[in-house]
Formats: sequence, C-alpha cells, structure tokens
Amino acid sequence: MPTQLIDKFNRKITYVRLSVTDRCDFRCVYCMDEKMTFVPRAQLLTLEEMELVGRAFVELGVTKIRLTGGEPLVRRNILQLFQGLGKLDGLKELVLTTNGSQLVKLAQPLKAAGVKRINISLDSLKPARFQKMTRTSKLDTVLRGIDAAIKARFQRIKLNAVILKNRNHDEVTDLVQFAIDQGIDISFIEEMPLGNIDEHNRAEAFYSSDQIRHELKHTFNLIPTTETTAGPSKYYKVAHTDTRVGFISPHTHNFCDSCNRVRVTTEGRLLLCLGQEHSIDLRRVIRANPDDIGLLKQAIIKAIAIKPKAHEFELDKEPHILRYMNMTGG
Ligand code: SAM
Ligand code: SF4
Repeated sequence: MPTQLIDKFNRKITYVRLSVTDRCDFRCVYCMDEKMTFVPRAQLLTLEEMELVGRAFVELGVTKIRLTGGEPLVRRNILQLFQGLGKLDGLKELVLTTNGSQLVKLAQPLKAAGVKRINISLDSLKPARFQKMTRTSKLDTVLRGIDAAIKARFQRIKLNAVILKNRNHDEVTDLVQFAIDQGIDISFIEEMPLGNIDEHNRAEAFYSSDQIRHELKHTFNLIPTTETTAGPSKYYKVAHTDTRVGFISPHTHNFCDSCNRVRVTTEGRLLLCLGQEHSIDLRRVIRANPDDIGLLKQAIIKAIAIKPKAHEFELDKEPHILRYMNMTGG
C-alpha cells in the first residue's frame, strides 16, 4: 500500500481539515442561516471514529490536521480527540480553528494536548457590529479567550477576519493594530459562496484582499514574505513588529495549483475540494468494517484519484455548493 497521497495533478496531500461538529454557539451571517438545521447526532462520526480517520491519514503521509467545524470546542469531550491525535507518530502539526468562545476554559488543556497553533475568528472589535455579524453578543468572551490563548503560549496565534463591504471593511486598520498590540498574526478572508444565505447579497458585500492591502498601506509598512504555512494565505510582515498579515483570496488569487489538502465532514464525508462536490463516504466504510484501518486507507487512496483540479466560485450566481461552511470544515 502507498505511504503517500498524490493526486492526478501531482499534488501531494499532507493536510486534512476535520470538521468535528456542524453545531455552533454563533450564527455568523456569511457562514450560517439564522435558523439552521443540524445533522442528527447518530449520523455524526464518533470521536473514536474521527481518531481512526486521523490515524489512517497520518499513516498515508499526512503531517498536519486541523480540527474545525462548526465550533469544534462545543463538541462534548472534544479534548479526548485532541489528546488521541496529539499522540500520533508522524503528525507534525495539530492545529485548531475556533471562534474563541470556549478558550478561557480550554486554552491550557489544548496546549497540553499538543495543539501548537490556533486560529481565532474575530471580525470586529465593536460590540454592536460583532453582534450583527455573529448574531451573538460574546465579543467580551472572545477577547478574554484570545487573552487566555496568549497566556497559554501557543507557538502561533492568528486571527481570522472575514471582511464584508459596508459591514466591517472600515475596521481593517484597527484589526491589524489590535493584532500588533497582542503580538499575534491576522488573516483577512474573502467571503466564499457556500450555502444559500438571505441576510446579504454576496456580490454586493464582496471586498477584495487587494482593497484591504491598499487600505493598510496608509498606516503600515507591509513587507512581502515568501513564508507559507502550507495554506492559501499570502503573508506580509508588518515592519518593526512581530505581526504577519495574511490574505486568503479565493476569488482574486486562485490557489488551487498548490492545493495540498482535503476535508472530512462531521458525517465522515471526505471532500476532495472546498468548492466542488466530489466526495466519498468514509463513515460507510468504517461502520461496515469497524477498526479495519487497512480498508479505510484503501478507500482514501481511491478517493484522492478524483480530486478536482480547481474550485469554481461565482458570486453573482446562485451558489453551486449548497453545503454551508460549518458543514464543510472551514
Ligand atoms: N467556528 C470556528 C470559527 O469560526 O473559527 C471554526 C469554523 S469556521 C467555518 C472557520 C472559518 O471559516 C472562520 O474563520 C470563518 O470566518 C470562515 N468562514 C465561514 N463561512 C465563510 C464563508 N462563507 N466565506 C469565507 N470564510 C468563511
Ligand atoms: Fe460558527 Fe465559525 Fe460559522 Fe461563525 S464561522 S457560525 S463561529 S462555525
């Protein structure tokens, strides 16, 4: 059996994003509908099944796993999964994306479980605006969570901000200044058309990475770096600070040529591309052959053969991907 995953475009798959729950304590306007229906619990992979999936990928050469969701830290007993994955030989990076709402209590135990880097979403520093964008009033809790993460001394902490025109686009300078003051990094993300939302028109709300960079240059000296975190972010260092600013630009800078990743949904569907529906059902394989990691690895190898060349996002048409970001494992 091969010990590496290489697709038909010669891209090596070394990174898996595992969505551990589709549930969330927030309802961000770009991610979810206000009234979401969630997957029935029996259809979710158990934490043990998720650990098996993680082990299979690591045995196939994956070196980085990100736990995401939904909000990964609201899943019951989630530390158990971090602890299990943290012990896998060959896994170099166990990382997390979170909205920060549970970090006051979980930052220290996550660090102890082997999590090295953590991304925390923060779209606004203004309470009323934060409330509008996330449909919660937990800005204070998130800010205390960021503080707890800094105190827990992760190798790297990065804020993620989705920027929408006329919602928070005028806050990009303040967000970078906040990151500088905290000694952490920040990435700006262009909104992707995943799932139907009624709250705003995605084409009208589009605000490009180039516009943000232009705005930031009035205040900061951004020095391009060749650095990559094996992700789609393009990074700049803010001169005379420890902060890097990243831009994730699925619309304006296509990054598919160097794609090194796949995603597993909370129901165990292996998604070969964020912006396409190509997938296979790993849960069926696991439940038909419990504990047979060999068959699971064979299924994964077969799936990599259908990984598409690129995503297709068109903001002015109906989204052709109907699953929401919380299902996808953003
Ligand atoms: N709940 C966690 C959080 O918010 O960080 C993890 C899951 S969330 C889906 C992961 C990231 O995806 C967040 O940074 C969020 O801002 C981003 N995101 C969600 N929906 C998006 C969309 N439609 N386009 C671009 N980014 C999106
Ligand atoms: Fe929840 Fe994250 Fe989606 Fe916001 S972006 S609704 S925090 S999963």
